Order: sequence, then C-alpha cells, then structure tokens
Amino acid sequence: MDYTLYLVRLGEISLKGLNRDFFEGKLKTNIKTKLHPYHSRIAKQKGRLFVYVEDQAPDTLVREALSSSFGIVGFSKAIQCEKDFETIKSEAMRLVDETWKIDQVRSFKVETRRADKTFPMKSYDISAELGHLILERYHTLSVDVHHPDRILYVEIRDSAYLYTDDESGPGGLPVGTAGRGMLMLSGGIDSPVAAYRMAKRGLRMEAVYFHAYPYTSQQAMDKVAALARILSRYCLRIVLHVVPFTDVQLHIKAHSRDEETTLLMRACMMQIATMIAAERDCSAIVTGESLSQVASQTLESIRFTDGMTDLPVFRPLIGMDKEEIITTARLIGTYETSILPYEDCCVIFSPKHPLVKPRLDSIRKSYELLGIERLLKEAVEKTERILCS
Ligand code: ATP
Ligand code: MG
Repeated sequence: MDYTLYLVRLGEISLKGLNRDFFEGKLKTNIKTKLHPYHSRIAKQKGRLFVYVEDQAPDTLVREALSSSFGIVGFSKAIQCEKDFETIKSEAMRLVDETWKIDQVRSFKVETRRADKTFPMKSYDISAELGHLILERYHTLSVDVHHPDRILYVEIRDSAYLYTDDESGPGGLPVGTAGRGMLMLSGGIDSPVAAYRMAKRGLRMEAVYFHAYPYTSQQAMDKVAALARILSRYCLRIVLHVVPFTDVQLHIKAHSRDEETTLLMRACMMQIATMIAAERDCSAIVTGESLSQVASQTLESIRFTDGMTDLPVFRPLIGMDKEEIITTARLIGTYETSILPYEDCCVIFSPKHPLVKPRLDSIRKSYELLGIERLLKEAVEKTERILCS
C-alpha cells in the first residue's frame, strides 16, 4: 500500500513533560478515528507527528481531520525521499509546483535542518541551491529571509523530508485527555460554543437535551441533534440523551409561584444532568451560561443551580459577550443551525417576570416543597439516546 505523509506540529502537548506520551497517544487515536476507514500509521518525533495515510484517502478528508483535531497547531503535506541531493532537488520542485499558488506568492526562503551530520552538504548550501533552482523556475519570486510569504523546509534525518508551511490546526489539547463531561445542549447559540471551548481543553462530552414534547416540536429536537452532529467534528462522536421533560415542567408550573418556575426548572435540569452523568461516568457538567445574560444566569441564580449538583459546573462562556459568542458560533459552523426558529422548552414555559435575584433559602425551600424526585427519576428512566457523528 502507498502512503502520503502529513507532518503535524504539536503545541501545548510538547510542554507536557513526563505526561507527553499520554497526550500524544490520545491525539494519535483521535486522528486515526477521524481517518477511518482509511488506513493510517502515525510515528512520533519530538514535537511532531508523522501521519502516513493510505493514498486512497482524499486530501480534503485528511485536511478536514487534521484541522479539526485539538492538540494540532499546524500541519503540512510532506514528501519523504532518499537522502540523495538529485532526488531532493526534483522532489522539492514537485512540492513547490503542487502546493504554492505562485501568483499569490512574492517571496520565499528555504530552511534546512541537517540532523544527519554525515550528509555531505551543509545546511546552508542545501538551502542556497534549492533557492536558486526555485528562482530560476519562477522569475516573479524573490528571496526574503525575514518575512517570506512561503517557506520550504528540508530536513535530513533517516530520510530527507520536504514540506512547506501550510494549514493551521485548532490548537488546544486532544479530546479525551481531560476526562468526561455532560454537556447541557439546547438548540440555542450558546451551548454549542461552550462545547467547543471545553473540547478544546481536552474534555470528552456526552450531551443531554430536555425535550418538552409536544410543547416543543420534533423539529426542535432534530435541530439539537443536528448541532450535536456538527459538534462531533471537534468533539468526536457525541451520545445525545433526550430527556422527556414535559411532566416535570407541568408539575413545576402547577405547584410553584410563577416567577420561580424558570429557576426551579433549571434546578431540575441540573439534577437530571447529574444523574445521567453518574450513569455515564462523567465528572463535570457543561453549560452555555454567561453571567447576567438572562434572569437564570445572575450570580444569585447560578449559586442556587450550582447547589443542585456535586459535580463541578463548567461555564466557559461566563465572561463572554453575546457578540463574542456569535463570532465563535459562526467560526465553528453552528450559528446557522442555532438560529433556526424552533422553540425552546424554557421559552415556552417562562414567566413574564422571572426572579432575578432569588433568596437562596427561599428558593431552596420552594424546590423542596415541589416534591419532584420521583418525576425526575422517571424522566431519567425514559431518556432515549441518539448517537451523533
Ligand atoms: P443557549 O443559547 O445555549 O440556548 P440561552 O442563552 O438560550 O443559551 P438559557 O436558555 O438560559 O440560555 O440556557 C442556559 C443554558 O442551559 C444553555 O446554554 C444550556 O447549557 C442549558 N439549557 C437550556 N435549555 C436547555 C435544554 N432544553 N436542554 C438542555 N440544556 C439546556
Ligand atoms: Mg436556550
């Protein structure tokens, strides 16, 4: 089988000292999963991965896989060839021909690293000769050693490796290296962005969606599943838990003061998410809340809902403005789906004047008086799972 080589540059992982193997190992597995069903093998070398992918795999698929894998800061298609200068010359020219859009490039430089000191030419001479060849072929280019538009890299090791600066990766840490969390995924703009941000720090997630059928439609549900599928590009496959939430909401509406319903509903969501998290071996809850965005996200409200779980609650958007969140949502491709006009369960049941600054003792009391444990357990039991990838 023939393989194409992609050279992958690692960022924060390289600083991981003794734990580096663990992080690199996870990244290798994640990349292989994304390249499946195509065969790949991955070798490690300080701060780099050499990803060999079966030739049949389309270049676009490989680029898509690498540009969405957290832990990668950049990657380039590379050529591995014999350590013979005639071969290096012709392969270098082939690489430049194939990858540089010459009408958009004005300057370049060649950078050579000679790890194998037995190679008869010095680094400087290799760079100079290759630079000369490129200038001969492309008269519009010039050499700029300080701020070149493109760089041709040459490394002489066990073989010769040629590559050029290319695409950037998403940075962060490989998904799965930080443990597992339960994402509360609504159909809105915020929670998908929260998922992206936590995946970027290495958290693997499952998701829970509270569905108040028939008050919320099948379309609202499909929209959440569609968001989970978009997110799976970064987060890997997501198990989506769809919780039938109607009975809980109707009970709250019938048994509590109007202005408290939103907060009590949030409390129930937090409890159910915690129960499902326990079943699914997740040690954190993730939400898309941002401080003071709405009544249920004031400091007082958050303090109350936090008390409903013994797990850490990650709110990566807590300090972000809506505009900043929207910018990320566009970038990761969830925005257009998030703004589809299907109703959310919170909106349908929400009172005109929700409590903004709940008194902790009083809202806790209201929650106890609900006597809702049995309904929460039933909701968990009737929860359905969808695999989103
Ligand atoms: P989003 O845009 O993510 O829907 P939002 O601004 O609409 O957020 P809220 O409706 O108050 O804010 O929800 C706050 C957070 O609670 C959401 O980001 C999400 O994590 C969680 N959440 C809200 N509704 C649901 C739901 N139906 N299912 C699961 N999680 C939900
Ligand atoms: Mg919402």
